[in-house]
Amino acid sequence: MTTVLEQGNISIHTENIFPIIKKWLYSDHEIFMRELISNAVDAMKKMSMVSRSGEYSHEPGEMEITVTIDKNKKTLSISDTGIGMTADEIKQYINQVAFSSAEEFVQKYQATSDEQIIGHFGLGFYSSFMVSSQVEIDSLSYKEGAQAIHWTCDGSTSFSLSESDRTTRGTTVTMTLLEEENEYLEDYRIRTLVKTYCDFMPYPIKLIVLESEAATEPEQINKQIAPWKESPSNLTDEQYLEFYRYLYPYQEDPLLWVHLNTDYPFVVNGILYFPKLKPDVDVTKSSAKLFCNQVFVSDNCEEVVPRFLSPLRGVIDSTDIPLNVSRSFLQADRTVTQIGNYIAKKVGDRLKDLYRDDRAAYIKSWEDLSTFVKFGSMNDDKFKKQVEDIMIFQTTYAPAADQPKVEVETAEGDVWSGGGDLNTVNGKTYTTLKEYLDRNKDKNENRVFYCNDSIAQATYVNLYKSRGIEVLFLDSFIDSHFATFLEREYSEVKFSRVDAELDEALIEKDQTEEVDPETNQTFGDRIKGLFNTALNKPKLTIRTEAIKSDNPASTPPAMVLLPEDQRRMQEMMAMMQQQQAQFPEEHILLLNTAHPLIQNLSKLQQNGSTELADTICHHVYDLALMAQKGFDADGMKTFVERSNQVLTELTTR
Ligand code: ADP
Repeated sequence: MTTVLEQGNISIHTENIFPIIKKWLYSDHEIFMRELISNAVDAMKKMSMVSRSGEYSHEPGEMEITVTIDKNKKTLSISDTGIGMTADEIKQYINQVAFSSAEEFVQKYQATSDEQIIGHFGLGFYSSFMVSSQVEIDSLSYKEGAQAIHWTCDGSTSFSLSESDRTTRGTTVTMTLLEEENEYLEDYRIRTLVKTYCDFMPYPIKLIVLESEAATEPEQINKQIAPWKESPSNLTDEQYLEFYRYLYPYQEDPLLWVHLNTDYPFVVNGILYFPKLKPDVDVTKSSAKLFCNQVFVSDNCEEVVPRFLSPLRGVIDSTDIPLNVSRSFLQADRTVTQIGNYIAKKVGDRLKDLYRDDRAAYIKSWEDLSTFVKFGSMNDDKFKKQVEDIMIFQTTYAPAADQPKVEVETAEGDVWSGGGDLNTVNGKTYTTLKEYLDRNKDKNENRVFYCNDSIAQATYVNLYKSRGIEVLFLDSFIDSHFATFLEREYSEVKFSRVDAELDEALIEKDQTEEVDPETNQTFGDRIKGLFNTALNKPKLTIRTEAIKSDNPASTPPAMVLLPEDQRRMQEMMAMMQQQQAQFPEEHILLLNTAHPLIQNLSKLQQNGSTELADTICHHVYDLALMAQKGFDADGMKTFVERSNQVLTELTTR
């Protein structure tokens, strides 16, 4: 026989709060679980504190949460071994505090209801009414001689308080679920909810299912340990990797990670991982999870992580990020901006450490890292300053193993060694821009030769290599913008793609060309005339040069050149129109007068084989073009037909 101690009204001026809660938060009913488990965790934390302070003379016992599904009674209960509540406390905390915080929440929520709210945090205990027709609290306070108390409320504003026969310290909240909320009687639903929101809460959460007469054994359904709360020195690489695999199962291991932990001027803990960038990864979408005090908040931290670091994965946990606000408000928040800067700085530091301490690992990860780093540099000046000395490019330079290492002083005054074979991994050598410029000061001061398609531009790259000119590979999708960016940053440096113009070092300049007294033409003039007549392309500029080589037959007979500025302009226009850059009709065909094919061609014409000479001119041009743009269907057909024609002609000789 229970004695009713008190019956009363919770509040008078907000009689309609329950319908409001139900209506406004309709899509987010499931957060009641997070709110109730958070309360249970708080109660247990308080209990630990009370116990440590000596205020509690007994053993505090196990600290755990038990979630019980009772399929017969259609109830879901959440039980803790926390601090418990006395009758007075229930009146104060539940009837007053819980209610007024719910009211405050709804008011805030209504004010911003047209925008997506990030957290829906802090609705607290009353969120249980979103899914229940009746909520009961059964609680025994830790206080000496406390009377166990039973509180019940059916979702109206009246409650009832009576004595309970509970004998164990702590609180049980029992919800009689509404018919339409019966999904919360399914254990898989509860498991998923706990895993989503409460996986890393610092106490075991156990599940018991009661069905018919049977009850399952209590089973822990949360992971309980939040590695990001640990000190980095307590975690091994394997533990970091395990955590990543836990968060992102069936994914390739990450390249590296950054452990965030600071208490000042804001609290942030977290572990961010650099994933391997796959072509199907959307680099603009944030995929790190946001937590507040180990409670899951959101699947992305778009507003917190700087945009250029969006592909980072992992966890950010901060109590300083406002949660009951719209995402646009969050973006404008000063602390959030500071946290973003802090993350960028930590990422920069981590990359610098890796560059200094494990160059090989840095180089191996570079293909994936470089996109972050380049985007970051273009978007964030502070970040650029941090990483400019560790920005590397693959190069044609092949250092000898015994070559002395180069000492490079960084912007911050550190001296790092570079060069030598230190920068060669798996046969690929990398260099910083500074090292490149230093090394090539005498040959091509402040000029950077680069290639952005190592297959299409192979001929050009080989030519440069054969004359000892170093070429950098700027071949990621961001590199053409990046070259322009670097030119702006280092105004004295000019980037020029290998096919933009042939460097003087590649051209035989001393050769004096003989003029034929009969025609008054040089050999070059003749060849130019021959090609002009054969190709008949008014927009094509034909030039002749003798390419320097010990073996002219190994150099290309002809090359297509696209002047740097003109090409970039075209690329930019294409980008603005969101189209692929078209191959420009205006370009240069450079004929190599030192090549035997070009020399013989002129003889062929002089000997009267005009038709064959004409065919070969087309063929030479096609071969030069092929490297640049490939063929369309028509071009391919013509090319194959002509090839066969030339071969047939050869066999008849
Ligand atoms: P909040 O947790 O934001 O203060 P709630 O409405 O969730 O708001 O709860 C109001 C108060 O009720 C809490 O501050 C706490 O004092 C008390 N309370 C709620 N749940 C428990 C619990 N499981 N054990 C002990 N006290 C609780």
